[in-house]
Amino acid sequence: MFKFLSFIFVFIFLFNASALADLNVDRLSLTDANKVEILLDKFAPLIREKREKNTLAYLTLDELYTTLTKSQKVFLKNFENLDANALSVKIPYLGIAAGSEELVIIKGQKIKVNGEFQTLPPQFLPKDVNQSYTKMMDAMQKDLGKRLYVESGYRSGAYQLYLFLASLKNHKYSILETAKFVALPGYSEHGCPQKQALDLVNEDGIDGQNDPRLFEVLPEYVWLTKNAKKFNFALSYPKNSTSGIAFEPWHWRYSRPR
Ligand SMILES: [Zn+2]
Repeated sequence: MFKFLSFIFVFIFLFNASALADLNVDRLSLTDANKVEILLDKFAPLIREKREKNTLAYLTLDELYTTLTKSQKVFLKNFENLDANALSVKIPYLGIAAGSEELVIIKGQKIKVNGEFQTLPPQFLPKDVNQSYTKMMDAMQKDLGKRLYVESGYRSGAYQLYLFLASLKNHKYSILETAKFVALPGYSEHGCPQKQALDLVNEDGIDGQNDPRLFEVLPEYVWLTKNAKKFNFALSYPKNSTSGIAFEPWHWRYSRPR
């Protein structure tokens, strides 16, 4: 019996090792980079359709896998199973948002960029998170006469996986580099069933994502640092945090009161 079990364990170990060895995390081989682009081409009509219907944020893994060949499925699985901590990202595994969560849609958010009105693409949040966010913004409006808008809310694990694949090209097909900027599925607070994160943007379109200092100096940010706690929101990645993740003053996380 023991012999049989150890045979199984060795088999599983070898199988996993070979699956991971398929990807060079420093830089994908030319063949693998091509495979990524072929996948993205294959996903394109689905992504376009879901974007038009405003359902992209809750894309499911089934939808992504359904059009793929057997070998493409195995290839995509390698990315789905990547262990972020093995890539030196020091954030805990948070769990996968399945894309089936009950969400409310936030539509018609208007901001003014360089004097021109722009409507932000629709965003999605769990109902309780949206309620707390709205209360927090009403309080901010009362104090400052300004509010912040949701630039990015809920994203399913499948959408996160798609975003990761689509970002590889911008980082020379290095998984290690891409992981510093785009969370792997299961490691994003935007798709975390327990703690939902929001990326915020101000009425002038300032989100700080290219330069955190621009957001840090906003009175809206200063207000959040003093008041967000009352609404169960917290800054996930403060300056010099031990997570190794860069300062993200725009990214606030809601935790459900116990
Ligand atoms: Zn974020």
